[in-house]
Amino acid sequence: MALTGMQIFKLLPKTNCKECGVPTCLAFAMNLASGKAELDACPYVSDEARAQLEEASAPPIRQVALGKGVRAAKTGGETVLYRHEKTFYNPTLFAGLIASDMAVADVEAKLKVWNAIQYERVGLNLRPELAAVKDVSGDKDSFAAIAKLVAEKSEFNVILMSDNADVMAAGIEACGFKNPLIYAATEANAEAFGKLALDNNLPLAVKADSIDGLIALTEKLTAMGLKDLILDPGSRELKQALEDQVALRRSALKDSNRAVGYPTISFPCEMASNVDMEALVAGMYVSKYGGIVVLSDFTAEALFPLLLERLNIYTDPQRPMTVEEGIFEIGNPDENSPVLVTTNFALTYFIVSGEVEASKVPSWLLIKDSEGLSVLTAWAAGKFSGDDVGLFVKKCGIMDKVKHTELIIPGYAAAIAGDVEEELPGWTITVGPRESAHLAGFLKSR
Ligand code: SF4
Repeated sequence: MALTGMQIFKLLPKTNCKECGVPTCLAFAMNLASGKAELDACPYVSDEARAQLEEASAPPIRQVALGKGVRAAKTGGETVLYRHEKTFYNPTLFAGLIASDMAVADVEAKLKVWNAIQYERVGLNLRPELAAVKDVSGDKDSFAAIAKLVAEKSEFNVILMSDNADVMAAGIEACGFKNPLIYAATEANAEAFGKLALDNNLPLAVKADSIDGLIALTEKLTAMGLKDLILDPGSRELKQALEDQVALRRSALKDSNRAVGYPTISFPCEMASNVDMEALVAGMYVSKYGGIVVLSDFTAEALFPLLLERLNIYTDPQRPMTVEEGIFEIGNPDENSPVLVTTNFALTYFIVSGEVEASKVPSWLLIKDSEGLSVLTAWAAGKFSGDDVGLFVKKCGIMDKVKHTELIIPGYAAAIAGDVEEELPGWTITVGPRESAHLAGFLKSR
């Protein structure tokens, strides 16, 4: 249960030393209670008080780390029901299924295809993170061999899926170095799987047929000392699955029910008869609290929209995505190359720079800080005014790089041309196209 500011204050040293950056311990306590401060900012909290405060200030959905290497990821750590209240922190992770009876050559071929599914978008690399190795025969040797192959021959981190403790132990031995997720402890095997997770310090998924069943299992496992749990409420029908996701999140956040305060794992691969429907089901999980989503395969046409949906939902709605203000060189420009200016909204930058690059006309692209607003919005909000743009051009250093005096401004900001001219006497201000799609033709025709 979250502590109030006064309850936190009672646990602080009360010396008002100000080292945390605020004048009093009471002010720090209030900031801590409202999530505006980190406990580490106070160096004088006793160990006992720290343990109490960390427990109380932990996010209602526990954050669980999965895997090692470049595709290591975290899931959970969420604090709100709705994205607009604050933000969602750890994006839904995508896993592709690999059966333990697949031929080695087929697994290698699949991993090669999966590895190539990566997209650049607004400067981010979008890609899936996990491979779920599923025991389909009860043969621990083949399970371990495929788990080892996936762990060693790919960047993907691993989910080990079996209900047999011996098979699972073999899988852990084969790929434990990659910090795999164990799937799943059930009522029948909770003690054996709990011990495996404890002994190997690995995260453990928990599966039951209902939320009540999940609560009984998580309480049993946490009593054994396990902390990093992932929940599977067992629902494989869309309506029930959605209700369970919402019920788990609400219970953790609104009722402070720690027994369900863990991220979830879901299986669209078991809920649809074709890949299109599977992608739609996965989309529901991305928008409604899915921690890990397991797909039967990774195909570009299904994964790309899911990755984009994930990107949209897991960006901070209160902070536009931006790029840094400055001069960007596109295609080795020289002193005669055109100079364009636009705003620092990340999408604007990446679309404009992509079009300029596609034109094959080496250019200088000036990015002016507009607090992350696109051209038209920035202009309307006074963040891309003629005076500001002119001043920015003077100060950014572009005048040392070119010997001409022409500036191309975005078509949507044509109204600032006169003010820019006033700020930059002797310069020619050319109004570029409104749509970036016309930039390549515009640059080539000059
Ligand atoms: Fe109080 Fe700690 Fe802040 Fe000092 S650093 S004022 S002791 S909360």
